[in-house]
Amino acid sequence: MAGVANDGNSKPATAARIYDFHLGGTHNFTADREAAMAITKMFPFVPLLARNNRAFLRRAVRHLASQGITQFLDVGSGIPTEGNVHEIAQEIVPEARVVYVDIDPVAVSESLDLLAGNHNATAIRADLRDPQSILDNPQVRKIIDFDQPVGLLMVAVLHFVADDEVASQSVRELLAPLSEGSYLVISHGSAEGMQRDLTNLDDAQAVYKRDTATPFVLRSKAQVATYFEGLELVEPGVVWLPEWRPGADDPQDFTDRPTESGGVCAVGILR
Ligand code: SAM
Repeated sequence: MAGVANDGNSKPATAARIYDFHLGGTHNFTADREAAMAITKMFPFVPLLARNNRAFLRRAVRHLASQGITQFLDVGSGIPTEGNVHEIAQEIVPEARVVYVDIDPVAVSESLDLLAGNHNATAIRADLRDPQSILDNPQVRKIIDFDQPVGLLMVAVLHFVADDEVASQSVRELLAPLSEGSYLVISHGSAEGMQRDLTNLDDAQAVYKRDTATPFVLRSKAQVATYFEGLELVEPGVVWLPEWRPGADDPQDFTDRPTESGGVCAVGILR
């Protein structure tokens, strides 16, 4: 397994808690806030990116639930802020089951607190670079029936896996045991086609490298599309965050300039 030291404990901040701060949440510490503010100083649009990413996640989960998906494996699930996957899915399918998976122990313990007494959802700590540890986890085996379609969510997480081959292999291994009719949902940081000044990008990456155990990399639309090889893409395909089936209640921050959202996303179905 790559980087056992990357346990979310070895550095002062974590991606989960920085993201929580960007979303206006309260599940973060001083080091997380300082890292988040350093990033926002360089790229003031990042909190909007977080909010648009979260809105995509909600739309995708609603879509899957409306297509009859009743079980979700949410890998890189983060801190359980408002509009959790289980809440959204259960609005449509009350019996929906969810396993949240994250490398950050704080994200997992907060999730477990929130889910106390809920028999249809749980959270486990695991590293997606070791996909088998997720698939073999007894909690996952208990809640997810691999003979039935699953919604595999990897939203805003693969950009924390720097090695291209490791990221692709993790997606392939997590998809391998899923049955026909299962879905893959991905969003990913990307600066492709972006008009803004990116001269500070290296400095922003350096903040994550210095303060967190999960440095980030950006990938192109074409690279993100490769995660869906062998799957049928759901319309509108691989697009920018605000372009994936937007609804009237969604944020309008990037509607007129989707490439500036900083995130690419797609949903695919296993046939
Ligand atoms: N998926 C949620 C969303 O889109 O709202 C949260 C995304 S948050 C930006 C990224 C999450 O991925 C963080 O909670 C971080 O701890 C987690 N993460 C990063 N690297 C990971 C890894 N190798 N395995 C599991 N989780 C990871």
